[in-house]
Amino acid sequence: MPAAAPAFALDTAAAVERLLRFLSVNAITGHEGPIGKELAAALQEVGVPAKAITFDDAHTRIPEPTPIGNLIVKLPGTGKKGAKPILFMTHMDTVPLCAGAKPKIAGKRIVNELEGTTALGGDNRTGCAVLVTLAAELIKQNLPHPPITMLFTVREESGLFGAKHLNPADLGGSAVGFNFDGRSAADVIVGAIGADRWFVDIRGKAAHAGVAPEKGISATMVLALAMAEVYEGGWFGKVTKDGREGTSNVGLVGTADGKSAGDATNVVTDFVHVKGESRSHDAKFVREITAAYKTAFTNAAAKVKDHEGRAAKVKFTSRLDYVPFRLKSDAPVVKLAEVAIQKIGRTPNLRTTNGGLDANWMVKHGIPTVTFGAGQNEIHTVKEFVDLREFESACQLALALATAE
Ligand SMILES: [Zn+2]
Repeated sequence: MPAAAPAFALDTAAAVERLLRFLSVNAITGHEGPIGKELAAALQEVGVPAKAITFDDAHTRIPEPTPIGNLIVKLPGTGKKGAKPILFMTHMDTVPLCAGAKPKIAGKRIVNELEGTTALGGDNRTGCAVLVTLAAELIKQNLPHPPITMLFTVREESGLFGAKHLNPADLGGSAVGFNFDGRSAADVIVGAIGADRWFVDIRGKAAHAGVAPEKGISATMVLALAMAEVYEGGWFGKVTKDGREGTSNVGLVGTADGKSAGDATNVVTDFVHVKGESRSHDAKFVREITAAYKTAFTNAAAKVKDHEGRAAKVKFTSRLDYVPFRLKSDAPVVKLAEVAIQKIGRTPNLRTTNGGLDANWMVKHGIPTVTFGAGQNEIHTVKEFVDLREFESACQLALALATAE
């Protein structure tokens, strides 16, 4: 960080206080009620009128139980007439590992009193504190700005659901989006990977494994043969084909409700449920990886038969989790990001990521969106901490973006 005076006046102590406050709220993904309430209260305390703060109905469309919708805040423009609205966004949920975290300041960091036991939740309460601080400073300093929509999404960590199921018409016609969810304020994420999630039901037939194994059809064996084909074909783990790259993984193997597939050694296993995923920056390649799994399971099922020649059955379903995107380096949103980062004395660093972001859905909804960091570190681990220098830098950056001409 340069030692030069910051380009934007900012009540840093209040910003850090806010961050501690949000980090203290126990509200993991799918349980956003308490953080939604805390954010709405904090926004009103800094002068945002209650009628500017609403929750949408995205949670009624999210396939997993979710207590509230996305929080949407509209700040009317105070600058030039006809200025185009801009969107600031972040997610309000944290990963389940954060449950019960106790934040405390340690030098230029916020750490967890319970380090080694839970994660902290800097992912993504740092983003929440940046947005509320932006509202606070714009109001307090009476800074001219275009119309601003702020979006705090739910269920990012469990599948980008809040961003996926929002109604773009609720966002006030924003032409560009700035998402805060990451480590360094100077990093500009301009592209992210796409992913499929897929599910397989393998149906075999139970039989006594000692008395008449030939009468059974082993669903476990179908799984093993399918995995062998996938592995031999180079479709497992890191996948590289003709210069194209992606990844795949098998997650759950068991029953659909997470129990063990098969439970007795003397019974031929009649059912196995498998959950896996495929990822790539190339949308077509994601589908090809998923297709390779489907083929392997289908081939394997045909091979495993009982004594009368009846084969196993597989049902393979896949779902697009999110589409990859890549913004052009000369896109207006990228230019705005670069200029603002330079204004706060940093050097912009354009990057892509192998994880999915809410920005994947925003781009799909027609709002080109870049993502910056705000001090998260070692996320989703019990060593998580917040780098306060990066957090302050992100607060400055938000101000620079909101007040750019
Ligand atoms: Zn995050």
